[in-house]
Amino acid sequence: MDGATVDTTPAVLILLGPPGAGKGTQARMLEETFGLVQLSTGDLLRAAVAAGTEAGKQAKAVMEAGDLVSDEIVIAILRDRLGDEDVSRGVILDGFPRTTVQAEALDGLLAETGQKIDAAISLEVEDDAMIIRISGRYTCGGCGEGYHDTFKVPATTGTCDKCGSTQMNRRADDNPATVSQRLEAYHAQTAPLIAYYEGKGVLRTVDAMGEIPEIAGALANIVRGAR
Ligand code: ADP
Repeated sequence: MDGATVDTTPAVLILLGPPGAGKGTQARMLEETFGLVQLSTGDLLRAAVAAGTEAGKQAKAVMEAGDLVSDEIVIAILRDRLGDEDVSRGVILDGFPRTTVQAEALDGLLAETGQKIDAAISLEVEDDAMIIRISGRYTCGGCGEGYHDTFKVPATTGTCDKCGSTQMNRRADDNPATVSQRLEAYHAQTAPLIAYYEGKGVLRTVDAMGEIPEIAGALANIVRGAR
């Protein structure tokens, strides 16, 4: 991507992995390193819920139950966002696609613009650890930086290292019961995409049980090698 590249189309990276695998954390690090844009359908849906749009109204209860929002709604939201000016440098898809229907829709959208998937990176983790990771996580309301009660605490308690905001948010669906359902949905509906992308020759896997910077290094190497 940097240096002597021949591919001038915008980069398309996909992060696969269960809730809590660190997709959001790693996507933000890739944004900083490579100037790409993180595109999280979870964030887009939460924004739609907060704004009270029609899609948001339909998505709210489904998200609170830990189930997947309909393909139709999610694909429409993603299609809109991919049309925005700021994504022209390339995107890191975080939380999309989550079903085979979504993966096929993405293939169609990329074909329209002559783009291709550079890599679909599967973050490999153990389910049991995900419950612990998710139960302790929170996000800065100012800039979106992610934190964790045990694994990633800010230098000053309650104050964001990045932007200084003292507004920290915990997600309504980050509770043990909903997390179990989200893990179940992941294994039933999203994990089959690992084979889907393997079949396309773009799958990469990373052990995501280690330290955040170590995992970020492994991902950066994959991204550099993908072009
Ligand atoms: P996590 O990966 O930690 O579960 P997300 O923020 O990606 O968190 O997603 C939160 C919720 O938003 C999901 O449980 C689901 O209800 C909904 N959602 C997000 N992305 C999708 C998608 N691509 N398809 C269907 N539902 C989605």
